[in-house]
Amino acid sequence: MKKWLVVLLVSSAALYGWFASERMEEEGTLRLVNEAHLIPKRAVPTELEALQPTDAYTLARDVSVRPDVVEPFHQLMEEARVAGYTTWIVNSGFRTIDEQRGLVADYGGAYAQRPSRSEHHTGLALDVGTTRGDIGELPEGTWLAEHVSAHGFIIRYPAHKTEVTGIAYEPWHIRYVGLPHSTIMATYDWTLEEYVDYVAAEEVVRFGNYTIRSFSRRAYDKWQSEREASSFTASADGTGRVIVTEWNGEAS
Ligand SMILES: [Zn+2]
Repeated sequence: MKKWLVVLLVSSAALYGWFASERMEEEGTLRLVNEAHLIPKRAVPTELEALQPTDAYTLARDVSVRPDVVEPFHQLMEEARVAGYTTWIVNSGFRTIDEQRGLVADYGGAYAQRPSRSEHHTGLALDVGTTRGDIGELPEGTWLAEHVSAHGFIIRYPAHKTEVTGIAYEPWHIRYVGLPHSTIMATYDWTLEEYVDYVAAEEVVRFGNYTIRSFSRRAYDKWQSEREASSFTASADGTGRVIVTEWNGEAS
């Protein structure tokens, strides 16, 4: 084989590996999106699933989310239904950057984050209200705040964290981050901003049977090239680093 052909094949294999790992991180659930951390276009999901109402909730309009959020959300709503709360209404889920631009144009910047700064672009955020009135004034809001973390969600903008998030209290806005991250954030009363910072500072965090690491992109590329892709999950954290989650339970 000619030398240049070997070089071409080797470099395209390396490039393919790079793109493959890039994709895995982009599909993670821990990306920070806020005024200082804009979502890149490549991280806006293209595969979405429309929610279907159940006995627990209705829809204010067509609402889609990332497919991996549907089951945890339905489990959350089912638990709520069993607890006696059945008047939920989902007002919003995934929004494109263009849809966000339209919202800001129609209602102003005080109503919605500017385009590329909204968590709704991730397909991991939902606005959940109740047909009975202001969720922040009702037992539904209290119930939601107490139970979301068991299903992988967080109340993204708590009342006592507005200085950290830069966003006023939104009892209705839930964000999927997945387990065990939602449990850790609830246990230590951390926002996503604080959690991402904490893991980056510690580099290695152990929680139950999980090991959570924060890597620079370069360090992540090296680390993951020596591991089975199926033995961990990875997520871009929105600040340029990658958070890796490993389960250390017994092998099946
Ligand atoms: Zn929202």
